[in-house]
Amino acid sequence: MHTHHNNALRQENIGERVVLKGFVAKKRDLGNLVFIDLRDSEGITQLAFYKDNDLRSITTGIKNEYVLEAEGVVRERSSKNPDMPTGDIEVDVDRLEVLNTAKQPPLLIQNDTDALEETRLRYRYLDLRRPKLQELMKLRHRITKATRDFLSEEDFLEFETPILTKSTPEGARDYIVPSRLHKHTFYALPQSPQIFKQLLMISGFERYYQIARCFRDEDLRSDRQPEFTQIDIEMAFVDEEKVLDVSERLIKRIMKDARGIDVKTPFPRISYEDAMRLYGTDKPDLRFGMAITDLSAVFKDTAFKIFKGVLSEGGAIQAINAEGAAKEYSRKQIDALETEAKKFGAKGLAYLKYEDGALAGPPAKFLEEEELAGVAEATAAGEGDLILIVADTVKTSRRALGHLRNVLAEALGLIDADIFDFTWVVNWPLFEYDEEEGRYLALHHPFTRVRDEDKDRIEKAPGEVLAYGYDLVAQGQELGGGSMRIHEMSMQRRVFEALGIDEATQQSRFGFLLEALEYGTPPHGGIAFGLDRIVMMLGGTDNIRDVIPFPKTQSGHCLLTGAPDDVDTAQLEALALKKSNHEK
Ligand code: ASP
Repeated sequence: MHTHHNNALRQENIGERVVLKGFVAKKRDLGNLVFIDLRDSEGITQLAFYKDNDLRSITTGIKNEYVLEAEGVVRERSSKNPDMPTGDIEVDVDRLEVLNTAKQPPLLIQNDTDALEETRLRYRYLDLRRPKLQELMKLRHRITKATRDFLSEEDFLEFETPILTKSTPEGARDYIVPSRLHKHTFYALPQSPQIFKQLLMISGFERYYQIARCFRDEDLRSDRQPEFTQIDIEMAFVDEEKVLDVSERLIKRIMKDARGIDVKTPFPRISYEDAMRLYGTDKPDLRFGMAITDLSAVFKDTAFKIFKGVLSEGGAIQAINAEGAAKEYSRKQIDALETEAKKFGAKGLAYLKYEDGALAGPPAKFLEEEELAGVAEATAAGEGDLILIVADTVKTSRRALGHLRNVLAEALGLIDADIFDFTWVVNWPLFEYDEEEGRYLALHHPFTRVRDEDKDRIEKAPGEVLAYGYDLVAQGQELGGGSMRIHEMSMQRRVFEALGIDEATQQSRFGFLLEALEYGTPPHGGIAFGLDRIVMMLGGTDNIRDVIPFPKTQSGHCLLTGAPDDVDTAQLEALALKKSNHEK
């Protein structure tokens, strides 16, 4: 057995006999002296083989990533390395066993590797040896452990819900699995355990949690994975306040146990409407200001054609003030900002700079003195400020400016990565009108409860009713979201109807839930947090693949195993499936 891991030995161990095991991180042969850096999951210790050491003949053949067991005496180093925790000592080895050899690895196994991500994912088991990834996996463990500790202490029970199941709508496509025993029928992999956790409340378990794998077949984006993990929670006989309270204390505990950071509770709250109005997004980054100002009132009688046209069509003139950025932003850089704004649908971007005591810029010559003064006042513009203006539909100008706000904050260095601005976005609308589909869609999911005061308006004004829905955001990311749920069958039917789900579909897809709701369903609600996102935030990485041991590429491939892969004809026959002639 080894006596210590490779990050354990210090000055005070000098003179002790120790046994270490690990991988060869590096070997340096200085002729009369050989050093081997031995690495395990905790760190690195230097092994030393001096001139007259009999083991020198063995060390000659040793290469990187060989697996060794070494015994010897801890000595003080003659030249210390202050950058290494074990940098004061080395082990003078007198017994060495090569436990296994290794081929030359196709990537450098250290924090800064220059290997392509493709190579890293193909040899993920080697990539995972890099200290940085070892640390992230440990962080992930500390987060799930803090979660389990906290929720157990709060009397939550951990459950497992089915992976082979029926579709749960969370707004994505399902992964489906054909059944062999019942030909031409399919299971769906859960997009979330939503319906099962609600059923558990109906079963009388009042506090459920699961560290749950969810599967969503979406067009992949760089920050998404086809399977990901949620910390999934549900509670019965509670109201929204209680769910938010437990959630805040869970996050506080995770921050403390996993990173030693104290966060203040309760978290501030902002309504969905205010988040959209002031920051143009439902996940505002609140580490900096630069809120959106509506200038429509300033321009209500304007003669400036473009603004006038937009306002007469019910649009809005909105702006952000990038304080002190006038000098830094040349015409060319503002053109680049315009390109960004256009990505979010804006037709253009106007700007004014506050220089030499007045606002000036391309549109200034078309604007009245009072209008310029009105802009300056509304945006609190001062010397050196840059005002960016979008005139468009309310929705588009908000979205475009919301995006520019993030781009500018990044460029101007306004973002402090060490600030965790946990904030609840509350009072979500129940539905959102989808122009493409020509119907209302659920903003969270169809089981979300409408606020009591809006109960009677679901049919009359579906676009206006608010829900008991909430999201937790931090650093401009959605960390989690949830809602109080519908617990009356009749209300669930009304919501399905408002969503355009006809009676037959309600029955075939959700009949079992509608039935269960009739057997005494307690008021209940819950939330799910994105575990991968939380690990990313606390680990300081913006690559989701860094926090998942065996992730897929952005195109959904597992480069290590080669999944998704073809299956042989016999397997397909057993499932009574045939390949179509569709192109791959
Ligand atoms: N099931 C929801 C989701 O996956 C979370 C919840 O409402 O609890 O987003």
